[in-house]
Amino acid sequence: MGDRGKVVLVGAGPGDPGLLTLKGKDAIEQADVLVYDRLVSPRLLEYARPMCERIYVGKTPDRHMLPQEQINVLLADKAEAGNMVVRLKGGDPFVFGRGSEEAQVLRARGVDFEFVPGVTSAIAGPEYAGIPVTHRGLASSFSVITGHEDPEKLESSIDWRLLAQQQGTLVFLMGMKNLPLIAANLMENGMSPQMPVGIVQRGTWPDQRVLCSTLDVVADEVVQRGFANPSIIIVGQVVTLHDDLAWLKKGPLAGKTVAVTRARAQASKLTEALEGLGAVVQEHPMILIAPPDNLDALRDAAVAAGTFDWIVFSSVNGVDAFFEALVNAQDICAADVLSARFVAVGPATAHALEAQGVHDALVPVRFDAEGVVECLEGKIAPGQRVLLVQAQQERDVLRAGLQAYGADVTAAPAYQSVPVEEGRASLVEALRAGDLDAMTFTSSSTVSNTICLLGDDAPLLDGVALYSIGPVTSKTMAEHGLACAGQADEATIASLAQLICQDLGGLA
Ligand code: SAH
Repeated sequence: MGDRGKVVLVGAGPGDPGLLTLKGKDAIEQADVLVYDRLVSPRLLEYARPMCERIYVGKTPDRHMLPQEQINVLLADKAEAGNMVVRLKGGDPFVFGRGSEEAQVLRARGVDFEFVPGVTSAIAGPEYAGIPVTHRGLASSFSVITGHEDPEKLESSIDWRLLAQQQGTLVFLMGMKNLPLIAANLMENGMSPQMPVGIVQRGTWPDQRVLCSTLDVVADEVVQRGFANPSIIIVGQVVTLHDDLAWLKKGPLAGKTVAVTRARAQASKLTEALEGLGAVVQEHPMILIAPPDNLDALRDAAVAAGTFDWIVFSSVNGVDAFFEALVNAQDICAADVLSARFVAVGPATAHALEAQGVHDALVPVRFDAEGVVECLEGKIAPGQRVLLVQAQQERDVLRAGLQAYGADVTAAPAYQSVPVEEGRASLVEALRAGDLDAMTFTSSSTVSNTICLLGDDAPLLDGVALYSIGPVTSKTMAEHGLACAGQADEATIASLAQLICQDLGGLA
């Protein structure tokens, strides 16, 4: 077995990615292999290193993608091969999470393991609905109970008489299918039909829903109002506190579902901005950032980095790729070899340069290639050497514009965006179901790759409001016959989110 082979069983929390513990985040960042479930926020996967192997073993209530025995074997095998394996589980691994069973198998095979507790949905779900599981005078204990038992077995495995007669709060997980039976059993055993019952669906997620009812009618109301899994069922007087304590503000985009098509690694800023406004965000990555077909130009440019008077970056990806090439080529502290002036196409790119120690990059007023050409007018002297660090598919605007100023321009393709199948199936499904209110395009390549990936399904986009980050992206949309519902004032993520909020949002 390799030195660091072990399994860390990490509680991912109930949904809101902010509820992961710092220790859990550390573990994900170090993982070689990440094995995760359905109820885990996709956002947490972004903490993993690019090379980390991600394995989805999600279960739905009726179907196990991978049987539990195979998950156990997978964890042990991966750890024995010397990997640092993170097993990421919804909520807390020890609360109906089978974390203990997985660990037993690991112990039997002599594999090291650790646990990182997580925030359990049994407490956090109610809490996000303003329902405390204990409250002085109303409940001095709480029980967490599985509602998933086979209905036939229900009576024998759970002591309903005891549950019905105790004063504490009852919290049922996995209980939605059996709710009529749960309610009936509690009433039969003496609980008042008027006992308050709360249902929290997708607690702590942006689309959390809450229903407050009573034992006699809750099962019917759940059907009428379409509540489904995953939900927490809370039975007890504490449910009445919801009226006083509900605190989660509905953002202006509450009830709206927005698709983000950026590469997964870059999506989080836009996702966060939209979720912060209350939207449900679906990430359907249509592109992947990959190295260019030929890296020679970038390598040569890195070797000769000290000879350029200007270096122009047209995206964050370019900054990342260039500084990596620079470190490889120069073998010394990167910034030392550069006497060039830097230009960043927009604030995010300037920010990425700052992270590399470059604090004085020029940023044009308009955040695209045309803007860069404009901003360099009169600044570039004829004969000066300019390096363009850009996408393989870059338009010729920059090169042509700067050559017109007499500059000696070298273009170095630093990355390319390639279509990825990953987001296609889920996007088509969402479009067919009519789930999407809006879709965002943050570059020309996300537009053209979406069209290319959708193929014959492209007309499904007709019913969705399509938003563009800036003029270049809007132009590509028009070329593909897509109606643009709006273009961000400034070509930034913040401005795009703001536009969608103004356009689709209710009261701010
Ligand atoms: N280990 C998890 C529970 C796993 S059992 C934890 O500690 O939270 C799965 C059940 O948990 C679901 O059927 C549902 O009842 C509940 N659940 C998990 N996440 C939830 C959420 N965000 N909102 C409501 N219920 C949730």
